[in-house]
Amino acid sequence: MSYKLLNGKELSQTIKGEIKQEVDAMVANGHPRPHLAAVLVGNDGASETYVGHKVKMCDAVGFESSLIRLNEDTSEEELLEKIEQLNQQEDLDGFIVQLPLPKHIDARKVTQAIDYRKDVDGFHPVNVGRMAQNLPSYLPATPYGILELLERNNVETSGKECVVVGRSNIVGSPMSILLARNAKVGNCTVTLCHSRTKDLKYHTSRADILVVALGKPEFITADMVKEGAVVIDVGITRVKDDSKKRGYRLAGDIKFDEVAPKCSFITPVPGGVGPMTVISLLKNTLKASRKEIYT
Ligand code: NDP
Repeated sequence: MSYKLLNGKELSQTIKGEIKQEVDAMVANGHPRPHLAAVLVGNDGASETYVGHKVKMCDAVGFESSLIRLNEDTSEEELLEKIEQLNQQEDLDGFIVQLPLPKHIDARKVTQAIDYRKDVDGFHPVNVGRMAQNLPSYLPATPYGILELLERNNVETSGKECVVVGRSNIVGSPMSILLARNAKVGNCTVTLCHSRTKDLKYHTSRADILVVALGKPEFITADMVKEGAVVIDVGITRVKDDSKKRGYRLAGDIKFDEVAPKCSFITPVPGGVGPMTVISLLKNTLKASRKEIYT
């Protein structure tokens, strides 16, 4: 079967242009530039890269951005104080606290401390609850980006069997809710799999749409995928590779070379879901700045 790549890199460039145009028009009308802040605790290499990229993208579309760096040994209390300051900061539309956090900090407390009106990551229980009830909310960036990737490539979702592998709060779980909603991209019959799922292959191999967010490089092989399936690979893992200058390569959860020929659509890694995640964060920030969801 000849497959079509769901090219997130290309689509994210298109949407980046659209956002920039909107920002230019807003600013020309006297509206302040959207302002996003990112809090980075510690020196995790991958987190540094992700946050750096988010800041760069803010610049590219004409947003204000602030990067707040805190030491690895910042206490939970200090971080919560910082969050309260950001909640109160009037010229700030939205902010994120980059995950993962150091082990001594309870990520759930942090998520809940963020004012849901500034929660452009869409992780606060108010936004998650509103999402589940199909009310306007900030959608978590990765599933939001996947919806956009499906919509703009005219992938039909209604009535399809969808299997999501992985149930994290940031990807798998919200993805399963969104694809089951009665919405333009939705109306799937969804199965959510995780590490206790008894026969994973039984489920994955009957999926019309398979979304995999595991974090296990090349775990999904061709025998686990139905002919003609739409396959979304969320996984990004650094795998040691001495042939690369930086000493590693990025691997997805899908064994791309053998799975792709069976697919109708598939995302590459890198260049699939990753760039769409960042763009979705910008879209949420634009909505925050325009007070589209909360006044
Ligand atoms: P987590 O690491 O939090 O969770 C992994 C999930 O996989 C868990 O629900 C776990 O089940 C499940 N799981 C683990 N082993 C198996 C197995 N053998 N069979 C079935 N299910 C299994 O997931 P994240 O969503 O945070 O991250 C997943 C991947 O996606 C990572 O590689 C991450 O780097 C990447 N990622 C990429 C993003 C992007 O923008 N492209 C954004 C966010 C993440 P259980 O709950 O039972 O433990």
